[in-house]
Amino acid sequence: MTAQQPAIVTVFTVGLTAADIGLLELLDDRERLRVARCASEADRGRTLLGAALLRTAAGAMLGVPAGELRVDRSCTSCGGWHGRPTIPGTDLDVSVTHSGSVVAVATLAGGGRVGVDVERLAGRPGAEVLAWTITEACFKAGGGLDLTVHQLPPPAPNHVLTLATDQPDALVKVIDGTALLAAR
Ligand SMILES: [Zn+2]
Repeated sequence: MTAQQPAIVTVFTVGLTAADIGLLELLDDRERLRVARCASEADRGRTLLGAALLRTAAGAMLGVPAGELRVDRSCTSCGGWHGRPTIPGTDLDVSVTHSGSVVAVATLAGGGRVGVDVERLAGRPGAEVLAWTITEACFKAGGGLDLTVHQLPPPAPNHVLTLATDQPDALVKVIDGTALLAAR
């Protein structure tokens, strides 16, 4: 990426209704185990969709079939399989979030960092939830003072979607990932 071309962050969003058992085939064994261990149906749906949308979105950006992508979730603190996902061997940075009825994945090629967070208001004041999403998105983007925060259009009623990136001039595109997921 040259200095003349601004970084492009692409945010894919889907509704929980897109959760389909067939998406399990895109996941690796450890991702399927994470889905199976979820306590509730809604959590299973969100976790399944998060993993499937991450693979579909990153696969689309990289030109790799979603099911063949290697996703590393090893925790940098303990080595457990619950860390920030990365796509080894590529310069694609990814971030996944889910809350309420929304799952979102942000992607950024070229070596920058990106963090995305969605929260359902669930009766809480909007300003409080917005502040929380900013904190979470910045944390996921690696923290620091050089981050640029974008509040994105609500992906569903009563949801807040916030993005943070270390690329100050990044163009942010939000697209509905439902068709992409269905075309896997
Ligand atoms: Zn850990």
